Amino acid sequence: MTGVFSGPVFETRSLTATPIRDLGLTIADTQLEPIVVHFLAEIDGAGLSRIRPRIYLSTEWGVPADTIALGIPFYLASPELTDLHRAKGGLVEGTDAEDILRYLRHELGHVISHSYKLGEDAEWVRMFGSTAQPYRDHYRAVPFHPNFVSHLPGWYAQKHPDEDFAETFAVWMAGSGWAEEYGGRPALAKLQYVDRLMLRLRMEDPLVTDDELDEDVSDIADTFEELYDFGEDDDRGMPVGLDGALRSIGRSAGGDFPLAALIARITPSLQSSVYRWTGQFPWNTLSLLRHLERRSTALGLSVDRAREADAIVALTALVSSLAMNQVMSRR
Ligand SMILES: [Zn+2]
Repeated sequence: MTGVFSGPVFETRSLTATPIRDLGLTIADTQLEPIVVHFLAEIDGAGLSRIRPRIYLSTEWGVPADTIALGIPFYLASPELTDLHRAKGGLVEGTDAEDILRYLRHELGHVISHSYKLGEDAEWVRMFGSTAQPYRDHYRAVPFHPNFVSHLPGWYAQKHPDEDFAETFAVWMAGSGWAEEYGGRPALAKLQYVDRLMLRLRMEDPLVTDDELDEDVSDIADTFEELYDFGEDDDRGMPVGLDGALRSIGRSAGGDFPLAALIARITPSLQSSVYRWTGQFPWNTLSLLRHLERRSTALGLSVDRAREADAIVALTALVSSLAMNQVMSRR
């Protein structure tokens, strides 16, 4: 036996150059284990003991169609991989234990909906809509729409009826407070429906128990480098006029530090906030921010320390406005 450590230990180089399936990533003995244990107890606490998702590591959060298998992104099984994922411009979905529980509850909503074929239930369809509706990566969300709960970033309930249910279920499962929080809004009817539905399903055995995994971590032959290789950055599809915007934020000579360095520093945080409040996919924000970084360098722009907060606010407002108008290029 070796010493006590949490998860596999690799040099960064070999961590990114080894096929993911050979990294020995597991839920057991990592930060995920106590969270999953807590989550399973929460399922029992909600009276849903008949539901036992098969929880595994995959490329991203998700429940494969018609199964009760629940995938957690593999990068959450290792703090080093989480950092690398973030450094590559990936949005970390599950920033701490409480956040990971939010995603787990959401995915359990999908598990339950598969388990009991809820999409075939007339009342369910009246509440959430038809699951046959096309699934779009890009959807135009209405911030604080009263018909939907707010839970995961990006106004995710508005994406598709399946997501609306999963989000509503997650808010219900998180426990007390929803009746008060959503009182007077149409979303409350959905929560009350889920409350009634779960009371009934507690007594019923699931119809579907298939737990076939999709993209299990032990099947991922790509290395981290291959999986996160998005090719060269390019400037195609960027709005014209951004140079002028940057000149209004930075100064052309004599500042304390390069504007490009400031942009690089705020990129992960800006990316996730813009996604949370606009629903604009993080990779699009990343291409825009990388473009702004390159242009700031080319223009030789810098910022005075005393004006740093102004510059951050200006960049945030600029990127948010572009995101809300959906004018960014789409990868
Ligand atoms: Zn979902």
